[in-house]
Amino acid sequence: MDEIMNFTIREEERQVLELTRRICEEHVVPQRAELDEKEEYPYKILEKFKEAQIPAAMYPVEYGGLGLRPFINALLAETISEYCLGVSTAFAATKLGALPIELGGTEEQKRKYLPSFASGEKIGAFALSEPNAGSDVPNLSTVAEKRGDRYILNGVKQWISNAGVADVYTIFALTDKAKGPRGMSCFIVEKGTKGLSFGKLENKMGIRCSHTRQVILEDVEVPEENLVGLKPNKGFIHALLTLNASRPAVAASAVGLATGAYKEALKYTRQRQQFGRHIINFQAVQHMLAEMLTRIEASRLLAYRAARYAEFGHPETAKFSAIAKYYASETAVFVANQALQLHGGYGFTKDYPIEKMYRDAKILTIYEGTSQIQLNEIGAYIIKEAGLLK
Ligand SMILES: Cc1cc2nc3c(=O)[nH]c(=O)nc-3n(C[C@H](O)[C@H](O)[C@H](O)COP(=O)(O)OP(=O)(O)OC[C@H]3O[C@@H](n4cnc5c(N)ncnc54)[C@H](O)[C@@H]3O)c2cc1C
Repeated sequence: MDEIMNFTIREEERQVLELTRRICEEHVVPQRAELDEKEEYPYKILEKFKEAQIPAAMYPVEYGGLGLRPFINALLAETISEYCLGVSTAFAATKLGALPIELGGTEEQKRKYLPSFASGEKIGAFALSEPNAGSDVPNLSTVAEKRGDRYILNGVKQWISNAGVADVYTIFALTDKAKGPRGMSCFIVEKGTKGLSFGKLENKMGIRCSHTRQVILEDVEVPEENLVGLKPNKGFIHALLTLNASRPAVAASAVGLATGAYKEALKYTRQRQQFGRHIINFQAVQHMLAEMLTRIEASRLLAYRAARYAEFGHPETAKFSAIAKYYASETAVFVANQALQLHGGYGFTKDYPIEKMYRDAKILTIYEGTSQIQLNEIGAYIIKEAGLLK
């Protein structure tokens, strides 16, 4: 078998995943409804992950990590999301913030920042989106003006996961407006820097324990050492590399959520009786479960394939990341909807976890590129491969 398509999980990865699962069962399951209700950031759960060295699983040994394969990022996202997509998003947003440094930073930048992410000591955030530049990333308007050996940043970033709680931000800004997106650069900005502030906590429909805020930059001054890679106008590449590496993990987290919802549906249909039978015995119900399971298994294969392509730097990484992210996130919404349906009226209440899973699932088709944007990207590959590009 092609090594890339070998999804066998290694012993040391299995141990990390088992430990993560145990923490989720002991700490996430009992707390998730309350964290969601109160919009409370999951500090205590992240602390448990830190104590168990789970963040270290995502980094190379030279930067304080355990040196596992990058595949572990997808596997961790899948595992945690099975229990709570909010906790999973809060946890994964640090890695998202770290990726531009890991993929585009200088050795010195990597040594300065990555070990504190790996130890779980610092929380990170990735700030690309803006009020008028969501799907339309090239419409970015945050600017970074060079003054001597410093850059002055001005602008507003929208929908930033971990904003306000994060210690370190990777922020995208234009260093050469005339070049449009090719004139974009990525900067490392630490919390506490003068002029850096945050908007109100967004009152969201789902993933409510994951905090989302604006990042506001008013004459934020950073030394040029904080320019990722030290070369200006490389931000577009850093953003693309980051999204190629992170989208498979988002696809995997969709697989996780869908698996959690499927398990809830299975549990409920085995215990609920109507017409004198457990409802799982109705063939129509079995068909619903079968459709859910089939789509989950297909999504898992796509997510793993994309994750392995990203790890190996395969030329089709971007295409398969888009395919996996699109299909898995739509599957999560489909499965959560069917699972709630199988709970009947009880599913519509907060008495069962499926209600929260249903609300949480929707973000998967929006963040890190909407479903339509994934389809645009897949379409662009179809056109290119058909030789129709001029
Ligand atoms: C909870 C949450 C957390 C987030 N976390 C982060 C984060 O940590 N960092 C970060 O940088 N961003 C983050 N985002 C931003 C997220 O990536 C954007 O919301 C997303 O890319 C969509 O942008 P938008 O909201 O501006 O929607 P728009 O781009 O305005 O899209 C609106 C609709 O138009 C469609 N559309 C737009 N353009 C096209 C087109 N060309 N073809 C077809 N359809 C199109 C879209 O698919 C969508 O249905 C987060 C968002 C949310 C809600």
